[in-house]
Amino acid sequence: MSDHPTCPDCGVLEGEYHIFLCDQEICRHGEQLISCEHCDFRSRPPKRRFPFIWYPLLCARCGVHDPDFFAVPDSEWERYVSPDKRHEILCKPCYDAIAVLIDTHHPRPQTPPVPQRNESSFALEADV
Ligand SMILES: [Zn+2]
Ligand SMILES: [Zn+2]
Ligand SMILES: [Zn+2]
Repeated sequence: MSDHPTCPDCGVLEGEYHIFLCDQEICRHGEQLISCEHCDFRSRPPKRRFPFIWYPLLCARCGVHDPDFFAVPDSEWERYVSPDKRHEILCKPCYDAIAVLIDTHHPRPQTPPVPQRNESSFALEADV
């Protein structure tokens, strides 16, 4: 990453407005301006525009900048990532480490747990 981040789509510098209808432009609803149905930019100009500021994506666990994206099935993501972190970003090494930690301490149930039988000690007492 360079010292002067530029919009990956329209190329403006931080603090400048995006070139109008840049994919990266955010509207006042927090949506992508060109796809926000409330703004309807085709019939009226947006009331407010937001200049480009680069917010690096950080791994929520180790803080590494802009980790590579990786695909995880939702069921796995929900198994390993607590609800307050599911909208955060994790780097692959952290995700793998979390998965190992959780699997080590909380093994996946492979089969339904077998009820523990205590009959032998019970029988011994009954014999006395
Ligand atoms: Zn842009
Ligand atoms: Zn909007
Ligand atoms: Zn990480």
